[in-house]
Amino acid sequence: MKYHMQTFGCQMNVSDSDWLDRSLNSLGFEKTFIEGEADFFIINTCSVREKPEQKVYSLLGRLNAFHEKKSSVFACVGGCVAQQVGKGFFERFPFVRLVFGPDGLAMVPRALQRLEHELRLKISLLDFEDYYPERGENWPDKMPPQAFVNIMQGCDNFCAYCVVPFTRGRQKSRPSEDVIKECRQLISLGVKEITLLGQNVNSYGLDKQGLEINFVRLLREINRLTGLKRLRFTTSHPKDMSPEAVKAFGELETLCPHLHLPLQSGSNKILMEMGRKYTRERYLELVTGLRDACSEITLTTDLIVGFPGETDTDFQETLDIMNMVGFDSSFSFKYSDRPGVRAELMAPKISEEIKSLRLDILQKLQEEWTLKKLSQRVGTTDQVLIEGPSKRQRPDVWSWKGRDSGGRIVNIEFKTREDFTGRIFKVIFTRSKKHSLEGKVVI
Ligand code: SF4
Repeated sequence: MKYHMQTFGCQMNVSDSDWLDRSLNSLGFEKTFIEGEADFFIINTCSVREKPEQKVYSLLGRLNAFHEKKSSVFACVGGCVAQQVGKGFFERFPFVRLVFGPDGLAMVPRALQRLEHELRLKISLLDFEDYYPERGENWPDKMPPQAFVNIMQGCDNFCAYCVVPFTRGRQKSRPSEDVIKECRQLISLGVKEITLLGQNVNSYGLDKQGLEINFVRLLREINRLTGLKRLRFTTSHPKDMSPEAVKAFGELETLCPHLHLPLQSGSNKILMEMGRKYTRERYLELVTGLRDACSEITLTTDLIVGFPGETDTDFQETLDIMNMVGFDSSFSFKYSDRPGVRAELMAPKISEEIKSLRLDILQKLQEEWTLKKLSQRVGTTDQVLIEGPSKRQRPDVWSWKGRDSGGRIVNIEFKTREDFTGRIFKVIFTRSKKHSLEGKVVI
């Protein structure tokens, strides 16, 4: 059978979909990028962006046309929206035959084998497990140079605006033995850079009541693996960033000088309402510590504008702290209500007009900082890991896209057709653009 998959949302969803691809391919299912060729569709959903449910409904409405043409065509809905809406999908869209939440993912390949043969069957995999649901692996002969490795699932923090603890469940750390085994396997398949993934990686192991190593120990173990060139992790919570984790940036050879540290707001009042459990002062202290440990560290963040009760003064405090830190880049969003979270009941709500205005001001300020930070790189050198060919090519030169140690996109031109994917070069940056750098290999 052929399947077509659409993935929305964060790196964890991308990583889940990659795993599903590998697993389905090993069972003989074939991926297609053409919707009209598919025997079934998989939609891996996310509830972070605005109106996620409506978007899934409208996508399913469109895909239903393929089912109407050929009645055996069916759809599967997974991820956070599936966890929230659950079996409601079966009622609203009879051609949906499988719904699965994040903890049900491991059982999806087996479920699809049953759906292939039992044509009237519908399956829901929505239960939360109280342990990390380990997944079998079917590795291809060679992997791309970068890979994600899950180290945990879920979150215990219940920030006032966030659905994750409801859709991905409570924090469950994956056994460190399995994490390290997977890293070793990936390195043996050609992976040079590993990104450890979790909703709140700094609290790794804390749910195991002393029976598991902590996050920094895990970093140290992975750092020691022969053949690994680069190690990254995301996402971190400022309240759980320990002094040892800060110091690790100056100590571990493979740990890249880049940290994504979500700030969300620069106002202590709003941070408290959000339930973030740190202050702007604590955040700034962390930034100082990180820069002391590793002066060239790249800092990126997440910011929310228009949280209920956010005044002009609160918003100004966010702009002020952006200027104090000088983030290399940020993801910024307008607050919007999510069903069932605490902030849904908070008042006063901020009008769409003000939220849009604030987002625009904030993003313009970020663009200035991003430009400034990128231009400061011109004339300096760094190691660049090549990911693949660049989007834009010129005649007779071959341009390759890679990332520097801080995670910035770098385009490099070569005069030969050789495949440089996975190679690491020392590069001098020659030009900065809006969101990327250009560079030349230093011989
Ligand atoms: S720490 Fe992150 S994932 Fe957990 S509740 Fe807060 S925002 Fe959501």
